[in-house]
Amino acid sequence: MNLDEKNKILYLKSEFLDFMVNQENIKLSSSLYKKYSKLTCNVLGARSVSLFSKNNNGELLDSITYNRFPLNENEFEKQSQISNDKLDIEFDTESKYKIIHMLNQTFLYFWKCEENDINIVGFDFTGEERVLEQFSESFLLNFHKITFDLQNLLVKVNRTVEQGKQYLQLSKITTKLHSSFNVENVFSEIITSLRTVYPNNDYLLLLTNQTVEPSHLPVKQFSPMDKDANPYAIQAYSENINTYEKKNGSVYMYAPVQGQQGVYGVLQIKNKNFSNFTVYEQEFFTLLASKAGIALENAKLYQQVEDSAKRIQFVNEVGQNLNQNLNSLELIKYLVNKFQKRFECEEFAIILLDHEQIKVLDGSTSFFDEMESDFLVQRIIKELFGHDGTLLKVNASQEVGYQNYPFNSIVAVKVETTGLLGVSIMLHRDPFKFKYEDRTLVENVMEPTKLALRNTMLQEKLEQLVATDHLTGLYSRAYIEEQISKSMNEDNQGTLILLDIDDFKKINDTFGHQIGDNVLIQVSNVIKDVVRSTDIAARWGGEELAVYLPKIGIEHAKKVASRIIEEIERISNPRVTTSCGVSSWGGGFTSASIEKLFKSADDALYIAKNTGKNKVTIAN
Ligand code: GH3
Ligand code: MG
Ligand code: MG
Repeated sequence: MNLDEKNKILYLKSEFLDFMVNQENIKLSSSLYKKYSKLTCNVLGARSVSLFSKNNNGELLDSITYNRFPLNENEFEKQSQISNDKLDIEFDTESKYKIIHMLNQTFLYFWKCEENDINIVGFDFTGEERVLEQFSESFLLNFHKITFDLQNLLVKVNRTVEQGKQYLQLSKITTKLHSSFNVENVFSEIITSLRTVYPNNDYLLLLTNQTVEPSHLPVKQFSPMDKDANPYAIQAYSENINTYEKKNGSVYMYAPVQGQQGVYGVLQIKNKNFSNFTVYEQEFFTLLASKAGIALENAKLYQQVEDSAKRIQFVNEVGQNLNQNLNSLELIKYLVNKFQKRFECEEFAIILLDHEQIKVLDGSTSFFDEMESDFLVQRIIKELFGHDGTLLKVNASQEVGYQNYPFNSIVAVKVETTGLLGVSIMLHRDPFKFKYEDRTLVENVMEPTKLALRNTMLQEKLEQLVATDHLTGLYSRAYIEEQISKSMNEDNQGTLILLDIDDFKKINDTFGHQIGDNVLIQVSNVIKDVVRSTDIAARWGGEELAVYLPKIGIEHAKKVASRIIEEIERISNPRVTTSCGVSSWGGGFTSASIEKLFKSADDALYIAKNTGKNKVTIAN
């Protein structure tokens, strides 16, 4: 190299160095190509420069041309014709540059062979051949080195920029995915990120266990066992590796969507340009697919946590409501309602076992009232008590002992605490209606239920005891008063019959007190037989009894009273007769208070006693 050439090389180097140092533009490639073209054309004295790259098949991949002087139309056409022709030139791997004369034109080419393609720089020296002849070999080799060093640098810088972009995107998406517990949001984030970083590919998420296919996202159900499933996708899924497929001018990559616990599907990437994925692309897709896997896993985990929180909430809610002083009928009705909503069960019952006797609690659903349910209940109890106290069947009609019933899904739980033994049963016709978690949930709910049920039943028994007269089994005076007062608030009318045994002293005196007691019981039983279940018969005191008939007017009550005294006279032994005083409120009668009602009935009774006994007298 002579001094001039050395200076030129130094000049180029310092210019490029300055350029690179001051470069802040992200679009480095195009500005560097411009800078290079302009500078080299000037320094070498060429008319124009073209930058090419060709693949191994000789196909042109890119080309950029820079003209030092503006071209007229004629020259432009000629140039484009030549740039097509000159691609046929042999670029061997041995040499680095070549001077070509063709069609009255002169070109100087530099090139470098890479693994898959050749990068070429061509200078047009037409009319400037004398300049070209003066370049020394060493100068041209130095020039070659500068050119391709620059290119290498550009590739490296671009890769770094690309990687930076990828990692930025990855870190963004990781943060977003970690805060997203909604599966659809996860899909949407993944697809958006892919499209942002590599907008020229097509993406498809193929997921196993994907029941919903959101229409606005490329997400599809993937069944690896399906005979139509893509074999590359299957391989990626089952071997947990990336696979690649070439098809119809496109390259496909399949990356497993993998979490900590398993593989949930594959991410399919379609490169429409029939070029292979770069190492960086592959790395990015692999990472993103695994982020998707972990995010899916998190979303599922979150779902599970949320489900169990809901279960705890359910148990708490039921427990709290059961403690609100419900009677046993209200309690069972409440449970039926809750269970129908929560488990969508068709039938539900709580059944108590009392000395081997089965007692379906009132409020249970209608199937359990039917005779035919008895056998099923017996069957369940037998199996349940042989077990650990819980039972879940998902396909019961296939089993011996159950095939005569239309119920396939059964959950039964033993309900046992001090003073209480029973079972709760829920049924559904469909198979697989109840799950393992449902059985556990019923078990959990039965804990507060059995305590509430026991308390309620004890309470009811106690109330019953307090409300009943020991000798006659009739209600107490306090109870009938309470019921009359209730009826006066709720009903339009009601009637009270006061009844007193005639000459009862004589019975006691003649037969003794014990026989007297027995007569009292006989009289009470007659009254129980004659009145309806909604009427209230009570022992008013001594041998005086009272019957309250809610919603009943005086005419009807009079008939009831007459029937009572006739029956008593007919069946009592020793024979007794009785007298009644009858009084009403509402329906035209004005006795609005309990006191008035009793007073009028008592007055009427007094009249009956004084006008011959063994008769019914109506209050006036
Ligand atoms: P009448 O009502 O017809 O005027 O005559 P009576 O003899 O029935 O008179 P009264 O109703 O005043 O007397 C009630 C008697 O009933 C007094 C008491 O010895 C008796 N007696 C009250 N309670 C009981 C009881 O629980 N058992 C028995 N054996 N006798 C009772
Ligand atoms: Mg009396
Ligand atoms: Mg009497």
